[in-house]
Amino acid sequence: MKKFTSKYLVVGLVLVVALAAILWWPSEEGLSFTAGTYSASAVGFNGPIRVEVVVDRAKINSVRVVEHTESRLIADVALLRIPVAVIEGQTVAVDAVAGATVTSRALIAAITDALTQAGGNLTLLQTRPVAGLAQQGQPTERRVDVVVIGGGGAGLAAAVQAHQDGATVIVLEKMPRLGGNTILSGGAFNVVDESRQKLHGIEDSVERHVTQTYEGGDRLGNLDLIRVLVENAAGAVRWLEELGMKFQDSVFTVPGGMWARALRPVAPLGTGFIETLGAYIEKEEGIEVLLETTATELILDGGRVVGVKATTAAGQLTVRANNAVIVATGGFGANVEMRDKVNVHWPSLTNIKTTNHPGATGDGIRMAEAIGASVVGLDQIQLLPLGDPATGSLSGSIGRSVDTTIYVNKDGKRFVNEGARRDVMTRALMEQRDSALWEVVDRDSFPTGDTRNNFAETIDSLVAQGRAFRADSLEELARLINVNPANFIQTVTEFNAAVERKGGDAFGRTLFADKIDTAPFYAAPRTPTVHHTMGGIAINTSAEVVGTNGQIIPGLFAAGEVTGGIHGSNRLGGNALPDTIVFGRIAGRNAANARR
Ligand code: FAD
Repeated sequence: MKKFTSKYLVVGLVLVVALAAILWWPSEEGLSFTAGTYSASAVGFNGPIRVEVVVDRAKINSVRVVEHTESRLIADVALLRIPVAVIEGQTVAVDAVAGATVTSRALIAAITDALTQAGGNLTLLQTRPVAGLAQQGQPTERRVDVVVIGGGGAGLAAAVQAHQDGATVIVLEKMPRLGGNTILSGGAFNVVDESRQKLHGIEDSVERHVTQTYEGGDRLGNLDLIRVLVENAAGAVRWLEELGMKFQDSVFTVPGGMWARALRPVAPLGTGFIETLGAYIEKEEGIEVLLETTATELILDGGRVVGVKATTAAGQLTVRANNAVIVATGGFGANVEMRDKVNVHWPSLTNIKTTNHPGATGDGIRMAEAIGASVVGLDQIQLLPLGDPATGSLSGSIGRSVDTTIYVNKDGKRFVNEGARRDVMTRALMEQRDSALWEVVDRDSFPTGDTRNNFAETIDSLVAQGRAFRADSLEELARLINVNPANFIQTVTEFNAAVERKGGDAFGRTLFADKIDTAPFYAAPRTPTVHHTMGGIAINTSAEVVGTNGQIIPGLFAAGEVTGGIHGSNRLGGNALPDTIVFGRIAGRNAANARR
C-alpha cells in the first residue's frame, strides 16, 4: 500500500531511506566498496534517470534519484520503492514494479552502475536475496467521508468532485499506478460543443446525440441516464478545463461514434484526464490515493454501506466511510472467465484478446452483487474490429478519423460501412477470411512521417516496426500486404468515386472527407478484440446503486464502466469517457452530501 501524493512521497522517501540506512547493521559479509558518493544514469521511459549512491567501506548508505523525466503517475512507486529495497537488502536483485517496468529496470541499472564504480562485487550484489519492502507500520483502519474504489477516470472525477464539495476522500486503486482503461484510451470525448463543431461546419444537437446513443444501443439503454450523460458532457469539459486540462479545437468521428463530435485532448491518449485529476489530488489536503490496495468487500451496517475491506501488501485494511462509498472499478473486458459466463451474443470469446488493461476484471460488479445490488445488461459485450493481431490492443491502428479510412479484407475488397456501429463492423469482419482486415489511408492522414496516430505513435515508427506498411502506389501497397492488386485498385477507385458523390457506395457509408489518392499510401492489419462491457451495476440518475428489490442501497454509488444500462447493446465510440466524468462527478457530489 502506498500513498500517492508526491509531497508525502518525497518526505517519505528521504525518511525511509535514511532510516533503513541507520537500521542496517551490522555490515553484510562480503560487500566491500571504496567509500564515497557515486553517480550514474540509465535511460528510462521518457529519458535519463540519474542516481546518487553513497557507500562506506562495507555498505550502501543511501540511494537518491536526483534527476528524471518519468511520468509521476506511473513511475512514482518505482522511484520510491526501489532505493528503499536496495538499501534494506543491500542488493540490486530487486523486482521491477509492475506497471513501471521500464523505469524500474533503468533505475536498477543506474544504481548497479554506481555501485560498480564504487568497486562493489557485481555478482554478489546481483545474487543476494531479493529485498523485502518496508511494509511495517501501515495502519489497518482508516476513516474518511467518502471512499472511492478505483482510480480511473470515473473514480478520480468522483474523488475530486466529492472533495470540492467538502468531503475527505480516499481512493483505493489495486494497480501500482492510476488510470485503468482511461489512461490507455484514445481520449476521444463525445460532446455537443457548438463552439468547436461550428469551427468545422458541423451541425449537431443534444437531441441528435441522445437519439444516436439510444438507437445505437438498440433502445436498450435507459433514456433518463442517456439524457444525463449527453446534457452534462459540455459541463464536464468545462470542469476539466477549469482544472487545467486542454482539448484541441479539432473535432472528429471515432470508429462507431456515428457523428463528428469527439474532442481530442492535447496530452496523448487518456493521460490528460488522469494527469489533470491526479494533479488536483496531489496539491490538495484531505484527498489521497492508496495504490496497490485491492478492495475486496463492501461493509454493510443495517442495510447501509459504511466502508470497504481491502488487501494490501502489508495485510488487511478497512476504510470506513462517514458518508458513502463509490464503486468505480471499470469493466470486465480482461476477465475471460466472466466474459465467457455471460456471453450469449458472440461466438466464443475465449481466444479473443482485449484492448483492456489487466485490472479490468469486474471486481466492483462482484462486490456490489454480493450485498444485493442489481445488475443490468451483463451479456452486452462490445468488440471492435480494430485490435492489434498480436496483442489485441488498439495501438498501431492508423485510422485517425472514420471519414478518411477504409477497411479491406484479404482479397483487397471493402466489406462494410466503416462508419457503422462497432458490433456491425465486427460481425462483418468475423465473416471475412481469418477475421482479418487492413486499414488503408493515404498521406492526408499522415502528412509527415512524424504524424501520430490516435495512440501517440508516429507512422514512421509503426512502419519501422513492421506494424504498418507504406508504399508510393496502390499497386505496390497491395503487393506489400499480399492482397490482389487488381481488386485493391478497383476498391479504392470505387471508394474515391463515392467520396466525390458523397455517397452511393455499396455499404451505405455516409462519412466522407478525402479520397485515398495521395501517396504515400498506408495499410495496417487489424482483427476483432474485446473492448467494452456495457453491462454492470444498476444506477439511477443520481448515481445511486439500485438493489435487486428496486430500492436504492443507502451509502452506495457507482460510476463509469462498472455500471450498466446506459449504452444498451452497443456503446457509441467516444461516449464512455463522458460517461465516466459526468457520472463520476454526480456520484462524487451526492456521496459528499450523503451524510448519515
Ligand atoms: P477504468 O479507467 O478502467 O478505471 C477503473 C480502475 O479501478 C482501474 O484503475 C482498476 O485497476 C481499478 N480497480 C478495479 N478493481 C479494483 C479493486 N478491486 N480495488 C481497487 N481498484 C480496482 N472511450 C471513449 O469514450 N473514447 C475513447 O477514445 C476510448 N478509447 C479507448 C481505448 C482503449 C484502449 C480502451 C481499453 C478503452 C477506450 N475507451 C474509450 C473506453 C473508456 O476508456 C473506458 O470505458 C473508461 O475509461 C472506463 O473508465 P472507468 O473509470 O470506469 O474505469
